[in-house]
Amino acid sequence: MTDTDLSAYYKSIDEAASSIADEVIEWRHHIHKNPELSNREAKTEEFIIEQLKNIGIDDADITTGVGGHGVVAFIRGGSDGEGEKRTVLLRADTDALPVKEDSGESFASKVVDNDYPGGPFPVAHACGHDTHVAMLLGAAKVLFGLRDSIHGDIMLVFQPAEEGPPPGEDGGADYMVEQMQEQGFFDPKPTMAFGIHIGPGPIGTIGYSRGVQNAASETVKITITGEQVHASTPWQGIDPMPAVGDVLSNIGQIYRQVDVKERFSISLGHIVDQGRFNIVGNQVEIWGTVRSVTSAVVEDVNARITRYVENLAAAHGCTGKVEFFDQIPPVVNSPEWIDAVLPVYKRVAGDNPVAELPVSMGYDDVSEFIARFGGVYALLGGQDVVFTEKGTLEPSKEGSRGLVPNHSPKFYVNDAALEYGVRLHSHIAVDHLMGNVQSDEVGVE
Ligand SMILES: [Zn+2]
Ligand SMILES: [Zn+2]
Repeated sequence: MTDTDLSAYYKSIDEAASSIADEVIEWRHHIHKNPELSNREAKTEEFIIEQLKNIGIDDADITTGVGGHGVVAFIRGGSDGEGEKRTVLLRADTDALPVKEDSGESFASKVVDNDYPGGPFPVAHACGHDTHVAMLLGAAKVLFGLRDSIHGDIMLVFQPAEEGPPPGEDGGADYMVEQMQEQGFFDPKPTMAFGIHIGPGPIGTIGYSRGVQNAASETVKITITGEQVHASTPWQGIDPMPAVGDVLSNIGQIYRQVDVKERFSISLGHIVDQGRFNIVGNQVEIWGTVRSVTSAVVEDVNARITRYVENLAAAHGCTGKVEFFDQIPPVVNSPEWIDAVLPVYKRVAGDNPVAELPVSMGYDDVSEFIARFGGVYALLGGQDVVFTEKGTLEPSKEGSRGLVPNHSPKFYVNDAALEYGVRLHSHIAVDHLMGNVQSDEVGVE
């Protein structure tokens, strides 16, 4: 790691971020009022393209429709500089959630998606991806202004469907990465990937984990098939329900078969049956999710789920089938990368804490980028809370909204957090491209 003096760059970034702060807030409010569900982010995509063009990015450097409604844009550094020419990939996810917003904000969403599979659904940016888009657009504007003196390129990735596409559709980071690969975006490949997730910490605090930060995740679909029959004569058919009951109650035994030090969870949250009060249905589907800190444990747990389902179904004369999909690797911040970025986090956070946090069982498919190119994922605080002496969080003052977790109908982000995000993306990009933040390590478990 070199230690080039980039203080003039930092000053320019901070001044530019401050001067566009109101504009970034306006972008955020617009996106927030117009949320779109995973794989339906058409208007959000259009808005992103419009702003990238307004910033001055050349049409030829903007590619749309990548992996669904994804956008990839380049800011080309103009300086010949010294040493290796790098590319930093900055990623923001763009989709909203089927949540009825109850944040109390003046710009709250009233949108309902009538056509979404399984809908109609109310739609809201209850995970803060509106702020992610606005912060990355802000960084694009700041970095575009500095491009002539930057050595290397900035790849802006606006990724759809982070929350997962509807069943049966391709979408999310792995699909976007696949299409980016086909379209030659990784030749030469990025030398660092970076993203930010907003959440319920004090405004301007930056959180990180050393090692695994977000769990590996997958969707599990269990199908138990019997034989449909009139409910008055169950012996003339095969009832799948008792096998379903056994699967639900026995799946918890897996926790006793895997070393207690391994952290994982299995939740079966959705059951679809074909029966009626007077019909024994033919088939039942059970949908759930498996989370684990390492992919190896996921493989082990999957084998156990399959064994239980097949054998419990057979015990009742049914057949059991298990399918796993939407497999997302864990987000891993390798220690070398964390050591490299910590000075940047501290510089951007200023007087606010930079805190090491325990692993989260929530997933984020930014891992598809970080696992390929190295880099880190930062957690930015954006709520009206403060740390107590014990390290817990409490409302910053009486009557403030306090801590509200992501995905809650009451989830909110204080606009004051956005400027931190714009600065964080921009500082990281300049530090990496100019050689102050780098590592050859790629985050693996
Ligand atoms: Zn989310
Ligand atoms: Zn999210």
